[in-house]
Amino acid sequence: MSSLTEKDRPIVQLLLSTGTCPRCVLRFCCVGSQLLYRHPHQDLMKDLQEFLKNSQEKEDTVCLDAADPPCKRIRLEHSREEGADDLNLNGAVPQLPSAGRGNTAMESSAGKVCNVCLGILQEFCEADFVKKVCQKVNTADYQFTSFVFSVSLPPQLSVRERAAWLGVKQQIRATACPDCFKPAKNKQSVFTRMAVIKALERIKEEDFLKHFPCPPSSPKNLCDALEIQCNNGAVFVAGRYNKYSRNLPQTPWIIDGERKLESSVEELISEHLMAEFKADSFNFSSSGREDVDVRTLGNGRPFAMELVNPHRIHFTAEEMKRLQQAINDSSDKIQVRDLQLVTREAIGRMKEGEEEKTKTYSALIWTDKAIQREDIAFLDDIKELKLDQKTPLRVLHRRPLAVRCRLIHTMKSEYIDEHHFRLHLKTQAGTYIKEFVHGDFGRTKPNIGSLLNRTADILELDVESVDVDWPPTLAD
Ligand SMILES: [Zn+2]
Repeated sequence: MSSLTEKDRPIVQLLLSTGTCPRCVLRFCCVGSQLLYRHPHQDLMKDLQEFLKNSQEKEDTVCLDAADPPCKRIRLEHSREEGADDLNLNGAVPQLPSAGRGNTAMESSAGKVCNVCLGILQEFCEADFVKKVCQKVNTADYQFTSFVFSVSLPPQLSVRERAAWLGVKQQIRATACPDCFKPAKNKQSVFTRMAVIKALERIKEEDFLKHFPCPPSSPKNLCDALEIQCNNGAVFVAGRYNKYSRNLPQTPWIIDGERKLESSVEELISEHLMAEFKADSFNFSSSGREDVDVRTLGNGRPFAMELVNPHRIHFTAEEMKRLQQAINDSSDKIQVRDLQLVTREAIGRMKEGEEEKTKTYSALIWTDKAIQREDIAFLDDIKELKLDQKTPLRVLHRRPLAVRCRLIHTMKSEYIDEHHFRLHLKTQAGTYIKEFVHGDFGRTKPNIGSLLNRTADILELDVESVDVDWPPTLAD
């Protein structure tokens, strides 16, 4: 049973007399039971006034009507001397700026805007305001299974709360646990709020008292609820994509604000997901990436898309299949498979051990001097070829200069004509294939040119497989 005890009486009396609302009074008395706070504001006011009346008549603990165990977190320290302070307080109350005498002061605070919470715990806890919030949530048209209700409070509240606390401390000269008065953590307009909170942490009590009335004066107006906002947690979609175009970047290719190519893998996939999930924005990630002129074939490259603030979140497997079909029908440049909803945690698996994974490629190679079948046959016998690759010239503008050691696990050559052959490679992830073929002016050693003792160049490159077993393969 949540209760106020005799030692709470001076606090209740002081706060009510200075225009504090019943719910704030309960907070300051460290009442932990939320049940009690759910009672209508007017009823609570009556209960508190009853409590003051009753406690004048009897010495025992007076309990308010609630079913929870008493809050043990915070109590005023109880001793004989402080009992004497209680008596002093009675004399002190009428001297408070806005206080009248005795019980009349309490009555006057009914119907007033609370000097601590600016009415937030008066008006915004009542059925009318709750209805308003419900209406907003309903009209925002979100799918959800659970929700968090968060409130962004005016920074001024921290100051008022501090003032009220100091007011109580001054009058009662007992130390209530400051845990009650921890400033609320809020995310919106961080700077202002943080500044206020920091200032409150630093200011000396006597300086604070000089600048702010303690307890805080009664405000004229109720605090406004500026906006009721709805937000849904992000959902994550994963799949694999094939890229069939040699003229399509993975992500929008924009240089100095100018778009170089009209679309990208990311955009071709995201526009459908954004529309279906009715999301505000997205974040795209993938297991590695290919150059604009490189195709990705085979089972495709794993990717994941975070959809931010989606309105729709429930999709059946059938609906996901239709969504995948819609993406695939809309462009012949890409294809998507295994499209599915995943958890945020699962996406980590896509990036896990990326360096250790193997990738297989197919490269179309040109040589300056004529070749015969037997000239390239030896490549098939080379296993676990160690490469030293200096950061390629073409990426040097965005990556630091370093030497990477990479492995070509196996190679298989396929003769085409005197100047062309195809090479199938199985390599460690992160190997620069183009540079392994042409040598990048000797920056990759060895390279196909040096192995063949000719000048070699790469005409086409395809990713044949990305060996990451995520996301799970789906049955068709
Ligand atoms: Zn209040």
